[in-house]
Amino acid sequence: MPNDGNGEANSTTTVAIVGGGYTGAISAILLSRMSSTPLDIRIIEPRQEVGRGLAYDTEDPAHRLNVPPALMVLYLDDIEHFSRFVSSRDIAGADPGAVAADGSLYVRRSIFGDYMAGEVRRHRADNPSGSRLRHYRDRAVSMEATGQGYRLALAGGGQVDADAVMLCTSHGTPSLPPGIPDALRDHIGMIADPWSKSELSRIGADDRLLVVGAGLTGADVVVSLRHRGHKGKILMLSRHGLPPNRQHDFGDVGALLDRVRRPVPILIERHGHFTSVRQVLHAVRRDVAKARREVHGADWRDSFDHVRDAAGVIWRNLPMAEKRRYSRHLASYYGSHRNRVAPQVIDQLEELQRTGQLSMQAGRIESAYADSRGLSVEYRKRRDPGTYTGRFDFIVNCTGPVHRPDAAGNSFLGDTVAKGFTRPDVFGLGMDVDEFGRAKSADGGLSNGLYVAGPLSRGYFGDIIGVPQITAQLHTILPTLLPDLTSPANARQPD
Ligand SMILES: Cc1cc2nc3c(=O)[nH]c(=O)nc-3n(C[C@H](O)[C@H](O)[C@H](O)COP(=O)(O)OP(=O)(O)OC[C@H]3O[C@@H](n4cnc5c(N)ncnc54)[C@H](O)[C@@H]3O)c2cc1C
Repeated sequence: MPNDGNGEANSTTTVAIVGGGYTGAISAILLSRMSSTPLDIRIIEPRQEVGRGLAYDTEDPAHRLNVPPALMVLYLDDIEHFSRFVSSRDIAGADPGAVAADGSLYVRRSIFGDYMAGEVRRHRADNPSGSRLRHYRDRAVSMEATGQGYRLALAGGGQVDADAVMLCTSHGTPSLPPGIPDALRDHIGMIADPWSKSELSRIGADDRLLVVGAGLTGADVVVSLRHRGHKGKILMLSRHGLPPNRQHDFGDVGALLDRVRRPVPILIERHGHFTSVRQVLHAVRRDVAKARREVHGADWRDSFDHVRDAAGVIWRNLPMAEKRRYSRHLASYYGSHRNRVAPQVIDQLEELQRTGQLSMQAGRIESAYADSRGLSVEYRKRRDPGTYTGRFDFIVNCTGPVHRPDAAGNSFLGDTVAKGFTRPDVFGLGMDVDEFGRAKSADGGLSNGLYVAGPLSRGYFGDIIGVPQITAQLHTILPTLLPDLTSPANARQPD
């Protein structure tokens, strides 16, 4: 503690965490559980509660976790913690829609948000290292180096000093889809940020919609509108027209977490390192075929998941030209196979397609303009030379968050790049970091006391989007980072 109560100042290492979504919250919790000395942990997060972030700060009953509770693991020494939370509340009784046709449970995302916010409160009240967890309900806007660490300026005018800083801001504001002119950004029918709570409520029951993007966000928007009784026609337009896939049974969660944390992933053990994307595709196809020969009806997802677990290793070893090829041609295929949604969500999308209310189309927008009758969009269908025109009342941008840190609509990250404390990774997938999440500065050296965790570090860690992957990352890197964080040189005198 900064002050021992006798008026004598003790030195305590102060860690500022910028962003209090899942990554920031679990970082704070695990630091307080793993540290051998008390830390002063200062979480900067504008939302009311720490732990929810973009994914779990939702009250929408149609928004469900895309995995059963068993996979939402926070503590590797108690992997059933969230499952027990769910069982103790008879959630299936209160929300019968949570049970999928195969009997698996897919609870609302708000439940996980409640749980996370509760875990943060529990660790604020008491934690094994006696650390202090504070929530600064504000947004960081810039950062300066001080003699001993960093000073973060907050939008509200305050500041936070810290010996070390963890960047956990993750998902940036989506940019307008290609083909939509900037002039339409503020049009009444343009919903540029589908996560804004007030925006979707503007859509009327009979309004005609163009949903751009067919990933998790697009699925969220469609089921959410259906829940509110929306009856208007919806065209879902995406580059490849691939809908999200149905989630399936994961089997043993402990084994899955072990796989995620393996230094040499199973796919690499089986096939060796890959030097081209084509080799990866062939390896997966061979594995799917082998699994189907051995087990009747074997699921392709079991083989594909080995690619997800090896994504970081594969990515780091691919030559630059292959990385470019992947980014240009295969990233959306990977996304649609990787990003699966609860079976209940797929059932609803399929039903809407059967009734003709929803249609899915592969294609791209050529141009769009507004007139007195609404929004007109000219688009091309994939492998079709013709140009089509659609009239809509609303365009909902579901192209997903922008990852490039200096273009993610987050001036704070832009500031850290501009000042050279950080630099984007070469493909702009996030920040450039080393294997422990230590941020690289503009010249490629390590920035002292500056760390990046969660999706913002995916340029090195590969597929680090879901809760199990983020949990596994932090359990792996924090034991190495903690001695670094708590070394005497990093101890700050109380302020
Ligand atoms: C819609 C959606 C649904 C998902 N569903 C699942 C699921 O069911 N299961 C699963 O395992 N994974 C799911 N995921 C994956 C999800 O990314 C992770 O589970 C996790 O939420 C990532 O959290 P995060 O804290 O890294 O990022 P975010 O949730 O983006 O949180 C970042 C936080 O940083 C704050 N912030 C940003 N800039 C600043 C700043 N300058 N100063 C201070 N604070 C700032 C933001 O307010 C935000 O709260 C889902 C993701 C999305 C987007």
